[in-house]
Amino acid sequence: TRPYLGNPKYTIEVLQKYNFAFQKRFGQNFLIDTHVLEKIIASAEITKDDFVLEIGPGIGTMTQYLAEAAREVAAVEIDNTLIPILKDTLKDWDNVTVINDDILKVDIRKLALEKNKGCPIKVVANLPYYITTPIIMGLFENQVPIDSITIMVQKEVADRMQVGPGTKDYGALSLAVQYYARPEIVANVPPNCFMPRPKVGSAVIRLERYEKPPVQVKDEKLMFCLIRASFNQRRKTLVNGLKNSQELSFDKETIEKAILACGLPLTIRGEALTLEQFAQLANRFSEKQG
Ligand code: SAM
Repeated sequence: TRPYLGNPKYTIEVLQKYNFAFQKRFGQNFLIDTHVLEKIIASAEITKDDFVLEIGPGIGTMTQYLAEAAREVAAVEIDNTLIPILKDTLKDWDNVTVINDDILKVDIRKLALEKNKGCPIKVVANLPYYITTPIIMGLFENQVPIDSITIMVQKEVADRMQVGPGTKDYGALSLAVQYYARPEIVANVPPNCFMPRPKVGSAVIRLERYEKPPVQVKDEKLMFCLIRASFNQRRKTLVNGLKNSQELSFDKETIEKAILACGLPLTIRGEALTLEQFAQLANRFSEKQG
């Protein structure tokens, strides 16, 4: 049988063979747990029809599983010292392309066009935690055709993506993610499943892209401005949050009218609003501007 890297013994062998030095700045924590790997592949629902984009393959641990399950895989890795290692660990699979680049600089739309005829792709990643948010938001906002994103993130970030109003984790990220996708935490992953062990707990979350957003909003940009303004000043009322925003220029009266017109009290805080209510509020303001 092939030396699957999910087995820690092979991971150690490979690391030693190449005298690999972990780079903290790239958030390198490699998975060494076959159950977690199987769980990720299963929840990503990958089939032989799928083209999968993997972000940050490391030494190729998850890539091996993806290559088995998918039609084709492209894996984007920033660390050039990992490229010869990946060549070695992935030599038994002919459906994997490794791209040595920063994912934030890759034209993923073009990649999806070339590799998947522009049809929705599946993204799977054990992400470097420091760029989780820009990667996810980039995928959603840049009109990349996405079917789903299945990713390992810091546990706390997974919670933030999944919750609704009334919890401390609820914020701009929750609303941004939930506007584009249906989030579902599929596994909690403790530090001992990685080498080296991270300081924080992790979770796998699956984001299933909506074909159409769950709320109708005339001006998305304006809605996200309102959301940012509301959470920038969490402790303030919605009225004050919006009034004090640098990005918005509505006067107090206009703001109060719009809030009341949505059937909300003037004492309400922004953090109490649902996505639906933010959309409604944005639409009120668009009417005023229009
Ligand atoms: N997928 C592997 C695994 O599960 O064992 C490695 C996961 S490790 C948490 C994150 C990987 O992302 C590392 O290999 C790191 O070098 C790579 N990486 C970090 N920043 C990146 C970026 N901007 N673009 C592409 N890859 C990046």
